[in-house]
Amino acid sequence: MTRAELVETLRSRGVRDERVLAAIGRVPRERFVPTGLRKRAYDDAALAIGHGATISQPLMVAAICALLGLEGGERVLDVGTGSGYQAAVLAELAAEIVTIERIPELAASAQAALAEAGYDGVEVRIGDGTLGARDRGPFDAIAVAAAAPEPPPALVEQLAPGGRLVVPVGGRRGQRLAIVRRIGAELRTERSVACRFVPLVGRGGFAEEEEWDIAFDGESSR
Ligand code: SAH
Repeated sequence: MTRAELVETLRSRGVRDERVLAAIGRVPRERFVPTGLRKRAYDDAALAIGHGATISQPLMVAAICALLGLEGGERVLDVGTGSGYQAAVLAELAAEIVTIERIPELAASAQAALAEAGYDGVEVRIGDGTLGARDRGPFDAIAVAAAAPEPPPALVEQLAPGGRLVVPVGGRRGQRLAIVRRIGAELRTERSVACRFVPLVGRGGFAEEEEWDIAFDGESSR
């Protein structure tokens, strides 16, 4: 598949947001996948990138970006950098991107891939993204690419007025995208599509040891 074919696949799978489709049409996803998987870079699939992480399925990146409703001038926080692909798509859609990854090796390779692809304005941080980036907030939009038991409270706090947080919420085996909107003093939460992400591990996510349950469950059910 080519990048243009991926955009058409996303359209046929229900993505209607032209701005998001155009952004995906501009980001070289092949730079964000391991070299051995480059032939599959434009499949609408999540691919393993090592350290238990995946580059998200383009359909999910599109869904998250569409729910954020970005217009171009926003300051955005991306939690769970992984390959850096979602940060790159966000950089096509908004003004300022801060992305946080807990695994230093992934943060380093994402930073290199982002620079190579021309997204060197993206700030890559290493740390527990469930705590956000208080020194850089508040944020107009926050995208989380890992599953949480509930919207992490620190991220909700760092939403600017009118801001939106999109996060997969549910159990470790399946979630739904949740959209939390800050409207004045009020918070409104809605549920969107079903999804399956790797766990968000940290203070506002799952406990570290629960990660191992996944590997164990996966093996025992085979
Ligand atoms: N957006 C990424 C998806 C990566 S998968 C992409 O498009 O490639 C989710 C990532 O979240 C993994 O790399 C995982 O290490 C990371 N992660 C999990 N818990 C985290 C936390 N508390 N803070 C930051 N990153 C976290």
